[in-house]
Amino acid sequence: TASNSALLDVKAVAKAFSGNHVLQDVSFNVASGEIVGLLGPNGSGKSTLLNTINGFETIDRGAIRLAGNRIDGLPVHRVVAAGIGRTFQLPSMPRKMSVLEVAVAAATAHHGIWATLTRSAAARRTEQAALKKAGELLDQLLLAPVRGLPAAALSGGQKKLLGIVCALMAQPRLLILDEPTAGVHPNLRRDIVLALQALNAQGMTMLIVEHDMQFIREVCTRCVVLDRGRIVADCRPDELVRNEEVVRAYLGR
Ligand code: ADP
Ligand code: MG
Repeated sequence: TASNSALLDVKAVAKAFSGNHVLQDVSFNVASGEIVGLLGPNGSGKSTLLNTINGFETIDRGAIRLAGNRIDGLPVHRVVAAGIGRTFQLPSMPRKMSVLEVAVAAATAHHGIWATLTRSAAARRTEQAALKKAGELLDQLLLAPVRGLPAAALSGGQKKLLGIVCALMAQPRLLILDEPTAGVHPNLRRDIVLALQALNAQGMTMLIVEHDMQFIREVCTRCVVLDRGRIVADCRPDELVRNEEVVRAYLGR
């Protein structure tokens, strides 16, 4: 079945915050190579759903699997190690570190503090590998020209690109993005679309929360729509406009 071959399989997940049922019986999956858009009005539970997938939040019921293995209940670093990378709505950047240093630090954070503290040959090899990987990713995500600048000096869109680089440093199998183009200048928005398409062409699977319909039509292969904590549609982007449940979710009733 689709569910067995899915990279990410979310099954009957429920989550409540002190009686507020934010996610109810949520089931969907993401197959390898897909770019799935997660849509829904404000407050429908999108961020909470992402939080349960990457381990920020526990679930009350259901199961979340990556390549067949349960990941719900694991701490965030174990979810990262299992293969899920995530970027955030408003990536904050350290003041003193350069773009390259931030990218390299993302790798060390995932490898654990031990590698940084012990100046062993193995640690130095890890560092060298991280430097090489960071250089390649900064190049691919169009940040090579600014790699020496303080990360805090980047534009909003460039910070989003650096956030993607950081998430990719752990070599995830699934990349989760929360509003990658929100508040980004149109020129850079184009760059982000192209960068994500290039990553996908290399095999990267993605789950993306995004409101921009043009972005969704250009980038996503499939869309899952949440309304008040329930999945109300699972369809192709071009089917969204004539899906009654989707229209109802956005226009209210
Ligand atoms: P979306 O991302 O779709 O806008 P959210 O997942 O952020 O929606 O929020 C869905 C609902 O869950 C909202 O009613 C919000 O107030 C509630 N919620 C989210 N996180 C928490 C939390 N940590 N504690 C209590 N309520 C929360
Ligand atoms: Mg949100």
